[in-house]
Amino acid sequence: MISYDEARSIIQSTVQALPKTRTRLEKLHGMVLGEPVQATHDLPLFDNSAVDGYGVSLADVRGANEGVPVSLPVVEELRAGDSGPDNLPTNTAFKIFTGAVVPIGVDAVIMRENCIEEDGRVRILREPKAGENIRRRGEEYLRGQEILPAGVRVSPAVVGLLASLGQASFMVHKKPTVAIITTGSELVKPGKALSPGKIYDSNSYALKAACDALGIDDLLPLSCREDLSETRKVLGLGLDFADLVISVGGLSAGDHDYVKQVYEELGVKTLIYKVAMKPGKPVYFGTFMHRRKNKMQYVFGLPGNPVSALVTFNQLVKPAILKMMGLENAIYGQVVSHVKAKLSRELRKSKGRTELVRAVISTSGGELYAHPTSGQDSHMLGGLALANGLILFPQESDVLAQGSIVAAEVLNWYS
Ligand code: AMP
Ligand code: MG
Repeated sequence: MISYDEARSIIQSTVQALPKTRTRLEKLHGMVLGEPVQATHDLPLFDNSAVDGYGVSLADVRGANEGVPVSLPVVEELRAGDSGPDNLPTNTAFKIFTGAVVPIGVDAVIMRENCIEEDGRVRILREPKAGENIRRRGEEYLRGQEILPAGVRVSPAVVGLLASLGQASFMVHKKPTVAIITTGSELVKPGKALSPGKIYDSNSYALKAACDALGIDDLLPLSCREDLSETRKVLGLGLDFADLVISVGGLSAGDHDYVKQVYEELGVKTLIYKVAMKPGKPVYFGTFMHRRKNKMQYVFGLPGNPVSALVTFNQLVKPAILKMMGLENAIYGQVVSHVKAKLSRELRKSKGRTELVRAVISTSGGELYAHPTSGQDSHMLGGLALANGLILFPQESDVLAQGSIVAAEVLNWYS
């Protein structure tokens, strides 16, 4: 059995980014830039006003103050979107609104609040500074300048910046298509009646939500009973469809746990089976070369217990998805936030496995605390539902003392 850290590094070094594709602005959110982005024009595009006010020439308002104001005729009104007149005639003012072109001859825009306008004239009550309230052409970016490097994940702010460049599409890495396959003859869909011995399927919903949180939008849900030929058929369907196949359950040593055997029969190369972690020991990872499509696909088998399924998703599958989407350092980069916190009660375990203890991380008196949630068994979802962090209980320790400083990860489903 390999360690938790080894498992993460095998996944990290095996999984490769998906090819790039040109994608429309509306679809970019959450994707990762495949190329650096350059300014296609100066930003701002032209000198424009930062406020509503009056555009003046410095020479015309020199020495203005409340005692001796300067009065100028307002000869034109300039609004955002107007192409603007050529220049400002001497000894006049333009009324100018936020975002309007600042024409030649206007050295400053005085805020409306600092002027008095009456009968077509404006009284200027103080001398402005040169350039006051003018946003200069190119002051943020000059045409051709690099704005964003490749590898940036597109946030709402990045979408806005890209849109301001005027292009309708950009090169980003593809997002993986995903198949989520539940296994088990005991599973019934919520909304249907249960017969004795059956339980509700929670994993397919939880894992779909986890994929949604990462922006996956092409997802095929599949299910199969504990039956060899059905397992062959359904896993085969998943492998044919998806860049990433995630099955859940059917991996333990039971007589009806066919998943690993069938993956291998279908040509999946096993890279990981069983990891020294808790929850999640019987987790599976492999690669599959899809001959017809000539592409490498990745395969995860997660344990069926709902906490194990979600914790292994978050710790092992999520970094793989982010890497497929083009984020280079999905595991060790800035996307995981590690914290040190004071443990609120003693934790014990036997040595040999890294334990990911569900916890609430909170501050009290300026200190960070980690409170393990109750219900740590791998079938008890409540403890995970209330947690916002995972304490990393190292493989070779057997006790973490109350009050000691422990390492924890903020539980983040989104990145
Ligand atoms: P398995 O990994 O198939 O041996 O399943 C381990 C435990 O998880 C069993 O108690 C299953 O009933 C349960 N389980 C498996 N799949 C699901 C699922 N989709 N939703 C809820 N519980 C499940
Ligand atoms: Mg099962």
